[in-house]
Amino acid sequence: MAHRSGRHFLQIPGPTNVPDRVLRAIDRPTIDHRGPSFGRFAQGVLADIRSIFRTEHPVVTYPSSGTGAWEAALVNTLSPGDRVLMYETGHFAVLWRRLAERLGLVVDLVEGDWRSGADPAAIEARLAADTGHEIKAVAVVHNETSTGATSRLPDVRAALDRTGHPALLLADTVSSLGSIDYRHDEWGVDVAVAASQKGLLLPPGLGLNAISEKARAASSAARLPRAYWDWEDMLAANARGFFPYTPATSLLYGLREAIDLLHEEGLEAVFARHRRHAAATRAAVEAWGLEVVCRVPAERSAAVTAAFMPGGEGADHVREIALERFDLSLGAGLGALADRVFRIGHLGDFNDLMLQGTLSGVEMSLELAGVELAGSGVRAAADRLAHGDVEVGVGT
Ligand SMILES: *Cc1c(COP(=O)(O)O)cnc(C)c1O
Repeated sequence: MAHRSGRHFLQIPGPTNVPDRVLRAIDRPTIDHRGPSFGRFAQGVLADIRSIFRTEHPVVTYPSSGTGAWEAALVNTLSPGDRVLMYETGHFAVLWRRLAERLGLVVDLVEGDWRSGADPAAIEARLAADTGHEIKAVAVVHNETSTGATSRLPDVRAALDRTGHPALLLADTVSSLGSIDYRHDEWGVDVAVAASQKGLLLPPGLGLNAISEKARAASSAARLPRAYWDWEDMLAANARGFFPYTPATSLLYGLREAIDLLHEEGLEAVFARHRRHAAATRAAVEAWGLEVVCRVPAERSAAVTAAFMPGGEGADHVREIALERFDLSLGAGLGALADRVFRIGHLGDFNDLMLQGTLSGVEMSLELAGVELAGSGVRAAADRLAHGDVEVGVGT
């Protein structure tokens, strides 16, 4: 392929653009992961990553993708045949469910239409009906990356509390952490599942679990087989800054820098920036005359926007044009939404002009694909970015 000048526009909703400072932090000689200087370094990173989850409790990191952290959350807390209540927010919820079933768990699924976050009232009704407390965990995807819908986790917590149900609350925060407000301790989440390659500003390769005291206590009774993912082996070694096996040392250098970057900007400012870019993106989608997938305005994601193609197909063709003509990668429709939607990632290391470049690429690609647009989304987003207020949504 011919050389392409300038920067590629990686506007899929993860992996995201890695900031130069993080790339430079990773670009160091490999270190002895059993030596004293690594131990001191890792102790600091493992202590400070807690601030991003807003927890006082331990966070473990694995050399894995987010899927590994999903598995770790389940095998450390549950036993064969345990019931797990899951909510079908979209493709990632479906993948987590399949993983749970392959591990020998029994999933009670609350069906969803892939156009909103998890409905706390539906979860409450299921828990209230489970008078024998057979459901051992409730698992919710905080930000459903396939649809661009953010679940109201504090309301899910309140649903558990109102019913007095003792189930653990597990949350997939892979595409929310570092982009959308998430408060592990305050919201009473027991296990958060995260990964490096989205709002955490790193390349793929780290999976994370934030672990409440209740989850850690549950792990001592949990009987699903676990070895690589065992929290206790990890936590015992982590106490001295070490790991039970070789950690992804270079990514941990990057994580150090990413934590610092997020705090330099300030987490509240990071979340407000994401909300502002999401509002401008939605203004563009509406100006084009396209429909946003998430039908509940208050649940529209600050990290990713999915839009339906008019006529119900052709999204992949638009994405092909965007890549070939403008060196712009957009997110594909996943699972049931394949070819019906395209997704614009507006998370991570991102700014106003990167958004305008992205929207310009989308607008030109839609036009080249022969889609009749109602108006200019680029113009609408520019008005929003230059003059508009910050739109308030989930996670404020
Ligand atoms: C990206 C993503 C995952 C999967 O992570 P992998 O790193 O691909 O295993 C899980 N859940 C959500 C919500 C995601 O956005």
